Amino acid sequence: MAETEDQRFAGKVALVTGAGSGIGRATAVAFARAGADLVLVDIDAEGLAESEQLVEKEGAAVLAVTTDVTKAADVQAAVDRAVDRFGRIDVCFNNAGIEQPYGKIEDVSEEAWDRLVAVNLRGVYLGMKFVVPVMLRNGGGSIVNTASTAGVIGIAGQAAYCATKFGVIGLTKSVALEHAKANIRVNAICPGVIDTVMIERISKTAANGYDSMVAQEPIGRLGKAEEIASAVLWLSSTDGAFTTGSAMVVDGGQSVGLGG
Ligand code: NAD
Repeated sequence: MAETEDQRFAGKVALVTGAGSGIGRATAVAFARAGADLVLVDIDAEGLAESEQLVEKEGAAVLAVTTDVTKAADVQAAVDRAVDRFGRIDVCFNNAGIEQPYGKIEDVSEEAWDRLVAVNLRGVYLGMKFVVPVMLRNGGGSIVNTASTAGVIGIAGQAAYCATKFGVIGLTKSVALEHAKANIRVNAICPGVIDTVMIERISKTAANGYDSMVAQEPIGRLGKAEEIASAVLWLSSTDGAFTTGSAMVVDGGQSVGLGG
């Protein structure tokens, strides 16, 4: 099927958090291209406005809501506005996240730990807490939560980040079981090293900079945000209808093992 003919999400509404940049932006555009209407959520109003334009260019109706995913009132308000506007939410991509600059556990400040847990873990919890009731009323839906390769292997210098991403997978699997019979599928996506501003920032704190990012990838290059987007669309489409509770690894081999 030609890309332009992909209308898998016609008539559907997808809510994407962290939509103002990187993986979230690419996934929002991909959903729009496949026919969905979009609810874009991000704490960064400027990034959000740029994404809004890109999504509109694909012909989607779009609602952009500046939201801090760590705040229950914000998340509830974004979900309420989405339902007021579109009447439903079929897909929820809980993707907003922040990185940990490289550093050993003894150098992780309590503030940095608390913020990582708040955005990466509490944010996903709140997204599901407020979207699941809407999906129960709709008769089902697909939730995809962004974990990471750092959710399936330990990484020296990334203990706090890994803890949040392992947590996302535990949350995902448990909620998948809670709502499997209600036709709500809940999966995690585990990206490897993807070429976004997050990696630009974090590479500056790594021992060998950007080179050490590429060196983590057996496939010999960083991933593209669009390569994560296509997996999220697969998980959320009828192609993924029998897949729930999975932690889908899309990582160029980063988590596979040693050598090569
Ligand atoms: P990014 O920095 O480009 O985008 C993250 C977005 O999340 C930004 O727009 C930011 O404003 C938003 N955000 C941050 N805190 C927020 C908050 N409190 N409320 C609402 N929005 C908030 O990063 P990215 O690379 O696109 O990362 C997206 C997700 O993918 C994150 O969860 C990240 O941990 C995960 N991830 C990234 C990689 C990678 O290599 N880039 C690998 C594995 C997992």
